[in-house]
Amino acid sequence: MKRREWMKAIGAAGAAAAWPRRANAGISSQTQGSTIVDTDIIRLKLRHTWTTTMSSSAYRDTLHVRFHRDGITGIGEGAPIIRYGENTEEARRAVESIRDLLVPADPWKFMRLQADISHRLAGQYAAKSAIDIAIMDWIGKKLGIPLYRYFGLDPADAPVTSFSIGIDTPEMTRQKVQEAESYPVLKVKVGLDSDEATLDAIRSVTKKPLRVDANEGWKSKEEAVRKINWLETMGVELIEQPMPAAMLDDIRWVRSRVHIPIIADEACLRSTDIPKLAGCFDGVNIKLDKSGGILEANRMIQIARSLGMKIMIGCMVSSSVSITAAAHLSPLADYADLDGNLLVSNDPYEGARVQSGCLILPDGPGLGLRPAPAS
Ligand code: MG
Repeated sequence: MKRREWMKAIGAAGAAAAWPRRANAGISSQTQGSTIVDTDIIRLKLRHTWTTTMSSSAYRDTLHVRFHRDGITGIGEGAPIIRYGENTEEARRAVESIRDLLVPADPWKFMRLQADISHRLAGQYAAKSAIDIAIMDWIGKKLGIPLYRYFGLDPADAPVTSFSIGIDTPEMTRQKVQEAESYPVLKVKVGLDSDEATLDAIRSVTKKPLRVDANEGWKSKEEAVRKINWLETMGVELIEQPMPAAMLDDIRWVRSRVHIPIIADEACLRSTDIPKLAGCFDGVNIKLDKSGGILEANRMIQIARSLGMKIMIGCMVSSSVSITAAAHLSPLADYADLDGNLLVSNDPYEGARVQSGCLILPDGPGLGLRPAPAS
């Protein structure tokens, strides 16, 4: 179906809400009966070049999926993670490869649909997440309730979110910290030789609590303990993934020698990972792009809780679609790190907002997204 015909099919208002300010050409879609599934790749421009121990970039491309049926459009997004060998084009091809499953699917039977998708698609968790978010947005809209209500949650329980400061020169780090003045908790990327200069630069301009993410940066347990003990003296309240994901025995050794919680990120992708992490980590960082969507993220939260672990709900750099989807589960989390959309200058949507660091969930049906006002 051509884009013009699609616009006519769902009505101009619906289409505008679905794809406001689309960045890339090449929407593809397919229909069966009244169901339309579209994919698109949207280029998100970063306010600052984003650097971690793994990569550095000025933009991020994310996959957007739209599921339209019965006059309602569910919107989803996935940000493929390079660390796990995913990229946006392949994610899009993955969704397109299962159109024969998605188009005739009954969205109300979303648990079976999720199982069928897992059966058909190996890997491709960002693609799975984009589909899952679109379906759950559709369900919430069809029911006329926000997703947090569907999960029985109180939006007032949404935690404070940290704001991330990427690796940079001391001067730029100071500037970024000053720009983040309205956020009460900062998250800092470390894991390089410049860690000390980075922390000194931050502490020269703020006394705020810091959360630190080493992104697997320290390669020996002795180095990890030395660094974490030093961070404890710098007002750091938790450390994320200090060592490579596979080094669980080393992490267990480190944990017995430090005093702040250690949170698993790269070591914790899906629910099956969690039982072996108990005793090594104090908590897990759950992201929709790792889990494959909202339903699996919720499953992970329940499993981690049953093992007495803390919950962080995190994100990749993405638009308000994926961030808002995660925010709807955030009342279940101890920590939120949902700032991926705040790092972007051309977010096509508005959804969850941050007010004095607190996540404010939209109360519209489904995700509760609105097109961003034209700038
Ligand atoms: Mg992390």
